[in-house]
Amino acid sequence: MPLDDAATPDDAGFIELGTVDPGGDGAAAMTEPPEGPRATTSMSGRRAPLTAPKKQFDVLDAADLENAGSTGTGHFREDLADAGWDPFTPAELEIVQINVGKLCNMTCKHCHVDSGPDRTEENMDRQTVEQCLDAIDESGAHTVDLTGGAPELNPHFEYLVEQCAVERDLHVIDRCNLTILTTRPHEHLPEWFAERGVEVVCSLPHYRQLNTDAQRGAGTYEKSIRALEMLNDAGYGKGDPERKLTLVTNPTGAYLAGDQDSLEREWKEALARNHGVTFDALMALNNMPMSRFLEWLMEKGQVEEYLQRLVNAFNPATIAGLMCRNTLSVAWDGSLYDCDFNQQLDFDMQWDGNDAPHVSEFDLRAWQEHSIRTHRHCYGCTAGAGSGCGGAIDEE
Ligand code: SF4
Ligand code: SF4
Repeated sequence: MPLDDAATPDDAGFIELGTVDPGGDGAAAMTEPPEGPRATTSMSGRRAPLTAPKKQFDVLDAADLENAGSTGTGHFREDLADAGWDPFTPAELEIVQINVGKLCNMTCKHCHVDSGPDRTEENMDRQTVEQCLDAIDESGAHTVDLTGGAPELNPHFEYLVEQCAVERDLHVIDRCNLTILTTRPHEHLPEWFAERGVEVVCSLPHYRQLNTDAQRGAGTYEKSIRALEMLNDAGYGKGDPERKLTLVTNPTGAYLAGDQDSLEREWKEALARNHGVTFDALMALNNMPMSRFLEWLMEKGQVEEYLQRLVNAFNPATIAGLMCRNTLSVAWDGSLYDCDFNQQLDFDMQWDGNDAPHVSEFDLRAWQEHSIRTHRHCYGCTAGAGSGCGGAIDEE
């Protein structure tokens, strides 16, 4: 499938460009991009050591954390138990999140999936799509959340949306990188989504061009604004619940996500003033200490500092709302996980004596009774106001 060459990143690598706005919260006027991960190539393509999930776990485990977390141990499971969550089990299954593949037209440095234009092999096939539909039917979930990579690049994407949104009348979310909507094979999607009531959740690191292009590649910002205009033209981002447009931002450096409500107000004002585009909601997510963001932390010597920051900000009030408690995560090959993060770490779901269940074996009772697998990366979900597929968890 042709990819949009112009949307692939430049070779900015890890050039130091100065820190003006370290929180990425727009507090200071910008003349240079903030210090933070730059667009890169996939770790898989570079055969980087961190491609192996075990290596990532080793790096996290080696971090020497002082008096970390509520128990002072820096062990997520112990902090969970201390907060009264032992065992750590799911609530009601509401969402089936399907990662249809790792193929993407961009190569953002913070990507926890290690996606890129070279990840052509990992794409869900039609048989697995059908198995997902069977599992969705059994699950009773009201929402199907499609992610990737760029999910729109999977050849069965429109079939899957049609089956869920139209045939089953389920709420469908497309996690979109915006730039893909400006490529010729996908220009019809805003109108097509609007006709089916698909919610579009779009990643945009910042409303400033410098920040966004630095993290996602030169030219990304301009295409993203064009895509937002296309979505607005299709009725998205104007308060219609059937045309909901949500933006997702993540810090451009080793910092926690800022206050979601105040960032949303700031973003709405800035994008309306500068480009005349509107959206409905903003999610502010923490960067997870894994994959390409972990690689960047290692290069900066900031692994311990960032982990310590996450663990110090451990917030027990976020636990009940963690996405692993209401979401089934399915990988491109049909493997099941507790969340998309565990999926990228090959940290399989375990239930009922089955160490790596496949979507074709989905069993709602086994899911409800299983114990969710956690490790140190989970502190990324419980820091501050918390982070999940629905944005901040504890907004008190
Ligand atoms: S962060 Fe999103 S847009 Fe960027 S490479 Fe990863 S999947 Fe693609
Ligand atoms: S990474 Fe987050 S969502 Fe996944 S299991 Fe850990 S706490 Fe749950």
